[in-house]
Order: sequence, then structure tokens, then C-alpha cells
Amino acid sequence: MNNIAKELYEQFKIGKATVAFADEILDSLSDRFRELDGIMEYNQLKVIHAMQVCRVQEGYLNGTTGYGYNDLGRDSLEAVYANVFHTEDALVRPQITCGTHALHLALASNLFPGDELLSVSGKPYDTLEEVIGIRESRGSLKKYGVTYRQVDLKEDGSFDLTGIQNAINEKTKVIAIQRSKGYQTRPSFSVAQIGEVIAFIKGIRKDLIVMVDNCYGEFTETIEPSDVGADMTVGSLIKNPGGGLAPIGGYIAGKKECIENAATYLTSPGLGKEVGASLDVLRSFYQGLFLAPSVVNAALKGAILAANLFEKLGFAVVPNSAEDRHDIIQAVTLGSADAVIAFCRGIQAASPVDSFATPDPSPMPGYDSDVIMAAGTFISGASIELSADAPIREPYAVYFQGGLTFAHAKLGILKALQNLIDAGIVPAL
Ligand SMILES: *Cc1c(COP(=O)(O)O)cnc(C)c1O
Repeated sequence: MNNIAKELYEQFKIGKATVAFADEILDSLSDRFRELDGIMEYNQLKVIHAMQVCRVQEGYLNGTTGYGYNDLGRDSLEAVYANVFHTEDALVRPQITCGTHALHLALASNLFPGDELLSVSGKPYDTLEEVIGIRESRGSLKKYGVTYRQVDLKEDGSFDLTGIQNAINEKTKVIAIQRSKGYQTRPSFSVAQIGEVIAFIKGIRKDLIVMVDNCYGEFTETIEPSDVGADMTVGSLIKNPGGGLAPIGGYIAGKKECIENAATYLTSPGLGKEVGASLDVLRSFYQGLFLAPSVVNAALKGAILAANLFEKLGFAVVPNSAEDRHDIIQAVTLGSADAVIAFCRGIQAASPVDSFATPDPSPMPGYDSDVIMAAGTFISGASIELSADAPIREPYAVYFQGGLTFAHAKLGILKALQNLIDAGIVPAL
């Protein structure tokens, strides 16, 4: 292995043996990486084609102020998203503050008192517990008379079709499916698997609205949940589709009726999509979407390197070293709070921003245990940038994701490993 950067790793206090260990693993991954490059190429062409079809022009990159009436750049960006996701419509706004907000918007605007929400992928992402009212919360769907049911995944991580069939009743209105594992160690779903369960659900009742939480999944495959029947596909712009450039925002792509409901809830009855000034964010939304396929590619390569490296060292990793990828998250079960902290501090120390900061576990709004977060990011909290987080609880798994470039992802992984070695948690290589 001829790594011309080898010596520079010393500046980061990463030992020669650590670098050599990673480079040997990388040599074995070239076929996987070539496959990922094919997916990237496909998605890059898809995005450029959408921008051309929507006749994106220079004037669209500048935003509006005030009410934002006739914001052609905003309207065209939403048309681009609808084109990329192959949906009737899309809502893509800086006024959607984060992924949780986008999901709440999709749910709250399409569920009315007396309706029931059914999650078929088990316990939803932590922050949705308060949105739904699983955990008592001000303004939850429960407080507005929307009931909730959940069908857990089967032991092997697959959908429980019998359970789903039994849970659907005359009140059921929206079905929620979470593509990515979130803070769990179950596998993430492929779009094809999501398509199968949607077909099953629509076979029971065609009018059920299926919403897919697509956070972290965008551009990891050539198709999206909207290509296999999802009525709403929802995500955050400081994750995959923002390409690392979007400074804020969320999206919902889907059926016209659902998007109109969401827009009305976001702004106001009578106003809907017509208002919402885009201020100065449109250039970053367009350019970020343009870069997203290659940023996701870099992040996936980092995740695959981490899986192979930590699996070889004897840690449990989800997905494992050989599995196909359906999101950018890599879970590594490190087994102790000390190991989780050492890992996260390594990611932090490899960052371009705030590299000198030392992350500590602390309580986080929306989460029910202490969480440690490592992120020296250009966009605060952007987890498409190299970042790691872990709730301080059994089984002490760290969730590692992102990397705007592969070289940076690799540096972070090596520094995390070096920290574990230096702390005596991993034996010297
Ligand atoms: C990140 C994430 C969310 C919530 O997004 P925020 O932007 O952190 O509010 C919801 N679901 C999944 C699966 C996620 O990964």
C-alpha cells in the first residue's frame, strides 16, 4: 500500500500501525467502492436532469424577503425535488427547522382528531416520541385527539405483516415507516423492502397515507421510498439532500393533497405554499442538492471502512462489513461508556472546526438518556458532516455518520481508533 499521505497522519498523533491497518482494509474494498460510484453517478445525473427539466436559472439562486410572494427560485426548487423524488409536489423550506419538524408537519397536517397513526417499523426515532405523545408532551398529536399504535418488527428485523393487518382499523389514517435504524441496532430498510410493505398495506386499504421517514437514506440507492408508493417522503436538509451546504431546512415530497395540507399547516390556511420568503438560502439548497450524491458517496465509503475496521477488531457493527447500505449510519457497539466517549472524542479531534473541544455526555431535549455528540461541523449539528453520537445506555453503541469527503471520514475513523488504542480499550495493533 502506497499512501503518500502516510506521514501527515503523525500530525494527528495517529500511529503508523493504525494507518497501515486501515490501508490494508481499504485495499480489499475497491469493488464495493466502485459499486457505490455507480450509484453516485446515477443520482448525479438524476439531479442534474431534474434541474434542467425545471429550467433552473441564475436568477433563481437569489432569494426573496418579506412575504415571499412569487418566489420563483423557491417554487422551482420544490419542482426540482418533486422531479428527483418522482412525486406530484414537494415542500422544501428553510422555515422547516429540522427533520423532527418536517415529520411533525407531515403527520400533524394530515391527521385530524379521531384519526389513528400506525407505526409499522416499531418504536420511532426518539424525538418523535414527544411529537406523537408516547412520552407526555405539550402539543403532541395525542393532545389533539390523534391516537397511536405501533407494530414492532419481528425478531429478525423484518415487518410483521400479520401484526400490521391486525392493527389496521377504521380509524387508521397514516402509516409511518422509518427507513433508517436511528438510535437502534436493527438493520435499516432497503427501498425495495419498504415497497413490499407499502404494497401489502395498500392491499388492505388503498386510502391509507404512507409516510416514510427518509432521514439519512437519500441517494444511498438509485430509488427513493416515493418510487415505491410512499405518499410522503420526509427528511432533513442538514442531512443527505442538503449536501453539507444547506444551513437549515427540511422537505416533504409526495402527493399533492398531502403537500397542500403540510404547506397550510406550516404557513396558514389560505396562504399555503404561496408565502415563505427564502431569504438567502436558495443557492445553498440548489448547490447542496447538486453535491448531495457525491457527499453521500463519501459518507458511505467512510461507513463501510468503519464497519470493516471495527468488525475486524471484534466489535459488533450494524450494518456488518459486507451488507448493502440503505443509509449513511454506522453503528459500532463498543460495550462501555468509556469506549463510546473515547471514540467520539476521536471524531471531534479530527474535525476542521472546534477540533480542540472535548465532547462530554449531557442531557438533550427530545432524548431520554444522556447523549454524547461529536461534531466539528461548518453547519451546526449537521450530521451529513462527519459526526458521531451515542446515547449513554446499553449496549453502548456509537452511531457514526457523514463526512463531506472520504479523506476526512477516514481521518476521523483512524483518530477514533487511535484513541481507543491509547486508552487501552483496543490492544496495540
Ligand atoms: C435525524 C433523524 C430524525 C430527526 O431529525 P432532526 O433533524 O434531528 O430533528 C428523525 N428520524 C431519523 C431516522 C433521523 O435520523
